Amino acid sequence: MVFIDLEKCVTCGGCLDLCPSTAIRMLEDKVNIDPDKCVECKICAQVCPVGAPFMDAA
Ligand code: SF4
Ligand code: SF4
Repeated sequence: MVFIDLEKCVTCGGCLDLCPSTAIRMLEDKVNIDPDKCVECKICAQVCPVGAPFMDAA
């Protein structure tokens, strides 16, 4: 599962359009990943300028 570290995220929106499964969305002005859609490709982690997306081991 991939999460967004909201302490780091600057809401640039860069990851939203690049997610191949449209799992990333805005919820109440915060970036949120839909766990049912995320395929853990890690593209969001590669494009994020501040390293906000991270993998959870679980
Ligand atoms: S890991 Fe891939 S599928 Fe999951 S939110 Fe990031 S870009 Fe989308
Ligand atoms: S690319 Fe990074 S900083 Fe930009 S919205 Fe996505 S998680 Fe936030």
